[in-house]
Amino acid sequence: MPEPLVVYVDCRFDSSHSGYHGTLPIINTEDDRVIEMVTLTRKQTGNSWKIETAALKEALTSLEQVGLKIQEVVHDDNSQVDAILAQHDIMSSKDLWHKCKNIMGKFKEVLQEKCWSPSDCEVKGAITIAAVAVFSVQQLKDFCRDNGLQTTGSKLQLVQRVSLALQLPEAGTNIEIQRTRPLSYLELAQHDLAYKLKSWIYTCAKNAAKRGDSDPKLLTQDIHNSADHWVGNHDTCWVLPGNRKCIAENWPKRRDAKYVEDEFHFVMSGKTHKAVKDFLKKYITKSKMKFYIKAHKNFINETFHSGINKYATKRVHFDRSHTARLACTALDWNENIRREVRTVYNRGGNDTAVRRRARTDKKLVPRTSAWKSQLAQKVFG
Ligand SMILES: [Zn+2]
Repeated sequence: MPEPLVVYVDCRFDSSHSGYHGTLPIINTEDDRVIEMVTLTRKQTGNSWKIETAALKEALTSLEQVGLKIQEVVHDDNSQVDAILAQHDIMSSKDLWHKCKNIMGKFKEVLQEKCWSPSDCEVKGAITIAAVAVFSVQQLKDFCRDNGLQTTGSKLQLVQRVSLALQLPEAGTNIEIQRTRPLSYLELAQHDLAYKLKSWIYTCAKNAAKRGDSDPKLLTQDIHNSADHWVGNHDTCWVLPGNRKCIAENWPKRRDAKYVEDEFHFVMSGKTHKAVKDFLKKYITKSKMKFYIKAHKNFINETFHSGINKYATKRVHFDRSHTARLACTALDWNENIRREVRTVYNRGGNDTAVRRRARTDKKLVPRTSAWKSQLAQKVFG
């Protein structure tokens, strides 16, 4: 009896609007090869949204028939898929990348929350000139008066004066003046904390997967601890084993080491600390995180789907040749997916504001197409 498999599953439709064909490839996580693929049409299932579940049922049955046992399925948070997996007693995992993206989006809403009462936020909390510019003229004037600075001039002049007084790095540069209310949690927006939260969730999930946890309790706790790490309080880290300490942030090795003020992102028990804690309590729960303790990422499916476009473009409706085209994709994929790396080269700078990317890129050995001649031999002898 072969080892039980962990597989990726994600449905691809042949058009973006009410797809006629739906294809469900089953990809083995061990070697990224397609081990089963079911294509159904809207006619067969009665409705295009029924295709994914019907195809999954069919795929699981046919894998069972050839003696392959599935122990875990990784999918893109589809509740219907969840229900089928429960019926078959298969562990359900979800894509960590999608989860992090959603969490980041939700966290950014907190980051960008505007202050209703301007007095809630203080000018001296700003660490960038852009943050200074969102304060009202009155707040800037108040700050100038309290610090013995001149209070006259345009808003731009006030912003420049205040940022010089605060010794901000870009003080003196020209900035577009926004007519907005200040942010509720200035510290959150200024320390790129959405990105830090994302990488912290990744780290925690990967560590949980390495430990082989089956209970999401530790993972949930570890993620919740980030609210304390960001105030510079690592009391929890001191007592935790090495694979649960925070490593995303640099923190002093010794307990008595003097913290540099920059290491705090916000103050303990303050308004922002409370907001972060509440956020984590709401969105990072045991019942939600149980799908991520294996830290699986499902992007390989998207790559396979884009490979299908080479043989069956979404813009054309292939009535009779559709399944044959998909079969070609799978043959081509399985032959080329694990190609050797020929060289690794440096892509250059990573200073793009749009999307962070890896610094290195790999050049693989060229693709082969032995499957074509093998297929021809089968057909023509
Ligand atoms: Zn820590």
